[in-house]
Amino acid sequence: MRLPCAALLLTLALPALARPASAEVPQVVTDIPPVQALVLQVMGDLGAPALLLEKGADEHDFQLRPSQMRSLSQAGLVIWIGPELTPWLDRALRATPAPTLALLDAQGTQTRAFASGEGDDHGHGGLDPHAWLDPQNALIWLDLIAARLSELDPEHAARYAENAVGAKARIATMDSEIASLLAPVANQRFVTFHAAYGYFTTYYHLQGAASLALGDASAPGAARLSALAADLRAGHYACAFPEVQHDPALLTQVMQGSSTKLGPALDPVGSSLDFGPNAYDDLMRRLARSLHDCLQP
Ligand SMILES: [Zn+2]
Repeated sequence: MRLPCAALLLTLALPALARPASAEVPQVVTDIPPVQALVLQVMGDLGAPALLLEKGADEHDFQLRPSQMRSLSQAGLVIWIGPELTPWLDRALRATPAPTLALLDAQGTQTRAFASGEGDDHGHGGLDPHAWLDPQNALIWLDLIAARLSELDPEHAARYAENAVGAKARIATMDSEIASLLAPVANQRFVTFHAAYGYFTTYYHLQGAASLALGDASAPGAARLSALAADLRAGHYACAFPEVQHDPALLTQVMQGSSTKLGPALDPVGSSLDFGPNAYDDLMRRLARSLHDCLQP
């Protein structure tokens, strides 16, 4: 009597136990708002990827909370730029078994090295991780994201592919609007808070931007500050742009005695914007609009 009963219980319990292992929409965790936006566009209404970076946070220097560590350990897939951008996430991922998709070194990603004077404080050039600011990469990543989601969830492969096609069309429209907006100011030189804009200025043929801080947004040294102050006083730059994640005081101090205009605060990672499927387009359009409005003669 006892044995069939136990067997019946086991049979009833099995489908429920087996469920997490079967193919279903993966729980995705993302690093920064533009990556979350691209994943959201590919997933559509199939799922909502989590985002680790919080409002107003610096992408290079962030502390994960215990609840975020838990969501990482339960993730079915972590989609992120890579260790070059977020060393804090790199450390956390070493402790989790979650599969990952690192976009910066994925096949097809267009990368650039930091120019001299842009990299980190140790004198490294190194790979510039701000690769989402080149819209060609967003197009490539949409296909990569759709392909990886389809591997994990083949049942919805057609939906992921179709959503990626729609997202690419939107980005192409955004790209041509930004290109026409920026063309008239392409020869104006400017200063930014940190060296995050190399992909953007290269892609849109803008004059190279100088930066107050290096590519990892670490504090600049005295020699760097005084050289920049001298260039500003010599009238080399039309505008200087602070960033929403950082106090503008250092920049305004360096600008003293120059006729350079103070532009609006830029947000290269979108941490001050509304998170969601539009965050990528929004970030790119706002960046273009801010540069244009200050740089136009
Ligand atoms: Zn950065």
